[in-house]
Amino acid sequence: MKNLKLTARGKTHRTVIDVDGVKIGEDLVVIAGPCSVETESQTIETAKTVQAAGANMMRGGAFKPRTSPYSFQGLGLSGLKILAKAKKETGLPIVTEVIDPRDVSWVAEFADVLQIGTRNMQNFALLKEVGRTGKPTLLKRGMYSTLEEWLNCAEYILSEGNAGVILCERGIRTFERYTRNTLDLSAIPAIHELTHLPIVVDPTHSTGRISLIPPMSVAAIASGADGLMIEVHNNPQEALCDADQALTPAMFTGLMKQIKPLHQFMTTLFDNHTQPTKGGE
Ligand code: PEP
Ligand code: MN
Repeated sequence: MKNLKLTARGKTHRTVIDVDGVKIGEDLVVIAGPCSVETESQTIETAKTVQAAGANMMRGGAFKPRTSPYSFQGLGLSGLKILAKAKKETGLPIVTEVIDPRDVSWVAEFADVLQIGTRNMQNFALLKEVGRTGKPTLLKRGMYSTLEEWLNCAEYILSEGNAGVILCERGIRTFERYTRNTLDLSAIPAIHELTHLPIVVDPTHSTGRISLIPPMSVAAIASGADGLMIEVHNNPQEALCDADQALTPAMFTGLMKQIKPLHQFMTTLFDNHTQPTKGGE
């Protein structure tokens, strides 16, 4: 791949991004929370339960890029204020999406990690703006994008002086309609071959089915993912966005019990996720 001057993997180097003590690329990072921030009680309750289950970062959208202009678009500034309260209560760093270049500077004041959604992966003005903030940024893979296109978008952010890019595989569009998208598990080891940047997997948007989230989470960790981003809602039936794919706190707690020992096992098995520790190259 050409022109990945800053994104391409060096011989041994791997980037570790420290967000309030969570070392992304080294620790298992689990980002959990609702699709969108709806109310203060929903957000804070969910934050507390995911934290108790072992999540180390909190997610929640205040700006929602919806397919229909008539769907709930997010609470905007008041949503960000609710996220700030959730952080105050739990200490969990906040991951939240920004969709408009004009909003980046003030959204960055609330976010510990800025999220670029799949629909905006190639919004180059947004990438440049986020790059200039220097804030850690979770860059989701465009649903129609190749790995090369995705990494070029990371390059846009890095080339503005922001070294903190976390890639997020969230599934791509294929002819399959049973799942919302098709999770490209091979992207995980491929990304570790191609770049020094960490990669997390979103089993929620990639499957759109609650029953498939636990097995795909396990598969992602077994494939070398640095972490997961999972939607959890304290009362999924009432969710204003993506109600069918949100785990309950109990489901999430059960999943965390499977994932943690698996991740620990994987770190004993692999060094740098792609190279066997013993008898390697
Ligand atoms: C999200 O994570 O809230 C989201 C909208 O995901 P995606 O951009 O992957 O569809
Ligand atoms: Mn969602």
